[in-house]
Amino acid sequence: MAKLSVRDLDVAGKRVLMRVDYNVPMEEKNGVMVINDTTRIKETLPTLQLLTSKGARLILAAHLGRPDGKREPSMSLRPVAEKLAEMLGKPVAFVDETVGPKAEAAANALTDGQILVVENVRFHAEEEKNDPVFAAQLSRLADVYVNDAFGAAHRAHASTSGVARIIRAWGGQAAAGLLMERELKFLGDELDNPARPFVVILGGAKVSDKIKVIDRLLEKADTILIGGAMAYTFKLAHGGKTGKSLIEKDHTGTALAAEAKAAQRGVKFLLPTDTVVADLKDTGKLNKKGKPVFEPINPRVVSGDIPDETEGFDIGPATAATYAEVIASAKTILWNGPMGMFEDKRFAEGTNAVAQALVAATQNSGAKSIIGGGDSVKAVNKAGLGDKVTFASTGGGASLEFLEGIPLPGVTALNDV
Ligand code: AMP
Repeated sequence: MAKLSVRDLDVAGKRVLMRVDYNVPMEEKNGVMVINDTTRIKETLPTLQLLTSKGARLILAAHLGRPDGKREPSMSLRPVAEKLAEMLGKPVAFVDETVGPKAEAAANALTDGQILVVENVRFHAEEEKNDPVFAAQLSRLADVYVNDAFGAAHRAHASTSGVARIIRAWGGQAAAGLLMERELKFLGDELDNPARPFVVILGGAKVSDKIKVIDRLLEKADTILIGGAMAYTFKLAHGGKTGKSLIEKDHTGTALAAEAKAAQRGVKFLLPTDTVVADLKDTGKLNKKGKPVFEPINPRVVSGDIPDETEGFDIGPATAATYAEVIASAKTILWNGPMGMFEDKRFAEGTNAVAQALVAATQNSGAKSIIGGGDSVKAVNKAGLGDKVTFASTGGGASLEFLEGIPLPGVTALNDV
């Protein structure tokens, strides 16, 4: 169901409460909190500019970190408001309360086109409980609600869900921001009716984390390419050797069931044929859980089985070449989860090869390339290719749940059109 868009709102002179994702990485430097990466703030600027140019009085609400319902000065949104003012080149007001008379007075003092940031919604334990009284307090700040925080839309919290429902209950509108709208278009509509061939690439650590996505996409895709540590559970299910690799013994049945469903539906289901493995050297150190830390050494490529004393860390070059060829013929590509432990550059080649193939298909044959959030977005950005794909989702958990077909509370709370 399509959702009301911020583009269709009449907001002149109205107070618009907009939920944004300003959960930015911060660090203390000489006693002040400094923002390390402003991407999330930058991404909201088009929606902010659209609303302020239409004369909205904008109130921005967000969470930052995990203050667990307490006022935690290092997690204040004040530095974020200051950064936003700098980026917009105009003043942005800040109020050190989220709800209540002081916050309401600050919202009511706004004139057309002005922006106010209220304090971290998670300073109130009621936020994560979707407490109706807290949601009602938030609703008193606004006439209209906009949600542009896709990354928080899988949570039924007061600022993502409860407040939207209250505003709608008294006849107000609740719309998707431009960022949210793009997420719904690319992770939703485009994948519901994909141009074919539709190739899905799934990687990451665990089959159990991705099985619901695999299951749902088996109903849409022409080909599924599997990589990452989760490929080893498939290998184990086929009686292959997996050495010391990350596996989920309890999920071999899940893996086989997915392959059977693929065969039944005529979906090509490809598993890696070679693997980058490494020996494991005991560092003599213990991790936080008191377990010995091993360092991968002597990386090399093996075909077929993974030798007993080694661990698999990436797809091998033959697999990468096969996957690149499949990707080259695709018209729609969805990718979720890295092909290996890409954080270590010795094991990033498979992931980078997939990223390059995706970009080439986008540029050469006009394929739509969609990166479904989380670590694959990080990997594409790390390879410097972030702006060369059709769409990279801003969500992590939210993207995964949306791809699984789970209704997101932050989306369902918005008006349908
Ligand atoms: P996910 O969040 O499920 O997409 O998993 C991403 C994580 O899986 C990344 O941190 C990768 O380092 C990790 N990963 C992918 N392949 C492997 C592998 N072969 N061995 C260990 N970790 C892996």
